[in-house]
Amino acid sequence: MIYFDNCATTKVSENALKEFNRINENLYGNPNSLNLMGVWSENYVTDCKKTISSFLGVNYDELIFTSSATESNNMIIQGVAKFHKNKNPHFITQKSEHPSVTEVYRFLEKEGFDITFLPVNGLGQIDINELRNAIKKETILVSIMHINNETGAIFPIEEIGKTIKEVNKNTLFHVDGVQGFGKYKFSLKHSLIDFYSFSSHKIMGVKGVGGFYKGKNINITPLFYGGHQENSLRPSTVNVSGIGAFTIATKEAFSNLDENYKKVTIIKDKLIELCTDDNEIYLNGSVENFSPFILSLYVKDVRGEVLLHALELSKKIFVSTGTACNNGNNNVLSTYGYDKERLLGTIRIGISYENTVEEAQLLCEEILAQIKILRLVKPTNKKRKK
Ligand code: PLP
Repeated sequence: MIYFDNCATTKVSENALKEFNRINENLYGNPNSLNLMGVWSENYVTDCKKTISSFLGVNYDELIFTSSATESNNMIIQGVAKFHKNKNPHFITQKSEHPSVTEVYRFLEKEGFDITFLPVNGLGQIDINELRNAIKKETILVSIMHINNETGAIFPIEEIGKTIKEVNKNTLFHVDGVQGFGKYKFSLKHSLIDFYSFSSHKIMGVKGVGGFYKGKNINITPLFYGGHQENSLRPSTVNVSGIGAFTIATKEAFSNLDENYKKVTIIKDKLIELCTDDNEIYLNGSVENFSPFILSLYVKDVRGEVLLHALELSKKIFVSTGTACNNGNNNVLSTYGYDKERLLGTIRIGISYENTVEEAQLLCEEILAQIKILRLVKPTNKKRKK
């Protein structure tokens, strides 16, 4: 089995899994209980926050644990909207964000909020001047992701933060950091970012854990009401074992950041070299300013979904498609200006530092073998006659 779907989710690291089991077996007290078991758990969660916040260069009490990055993005965007709803707030985002951002804004738009969706160019970038011109007195929040989850396009978040604060120092900046956290060298310490969301299962932690950074003295209205966990922003019993596993995964990812980055860069370069040479397979986007952890390939005259299944059936190789949506609309690649044929002919390869160059070679060999067969049956949109 060869797993190349690491942008969707990852295997849990051995040490993270060990910690998950250790906590479930030994440290299962409720951090909100007054008894000693509760105090031990509470201290453990605080230590986890201290570890994670140290890698991000922020204070531990500026982190809030959630169940996922989807929940984090919702809490941030809806939380800001609710808090400022009487001030006619304006929001800015860009069209190729993850659905956990765009769909929240589409919902808010229907609710009557003023939202600007900035377009992106063929390389997935926004025009900074367009952003500058879109910011108004009422602009309360700008949401721009760090690294795009389908193509790997890296947004210049330092420059974007500077631009936002130059035009309106009261505008808050939200970055969905999921595909960069623990993979791309980055610190929040001197950034102009007010909110930064992350997810455990993208970096070999367990599923069901996420979180976000919220700068001091920034107010949001909670989405749920109940207990007073997580600074009264996120009621519900804290997921101690999941957070413990996530903390180990974070330590492992950040401690080997440069080494892992080099390793996946070699694998991605190999994949590009072997696959795109004269085979009518094209890179979506480019190499420069794109994450080495993500490779989006357009395979001419082959459906991405068909190739995906061919690879898993023939050699148990797992990749994903670029298209989340069948009809080719409302998709990241369509925001780049690519046509429907390209959207349907795309596969996404999610690379991990656990993958090897040999696996990359096998994947390319199999892609080339399969497309030879699949291209004999050209895709057609016509329905078969009965
Ligand atoms: N944001 C980005 C950029 C992502 O890639 C993902 C997951 O694919 C999410 C948010 C949502 O993360 P989660 O699965 O933790 O909700």
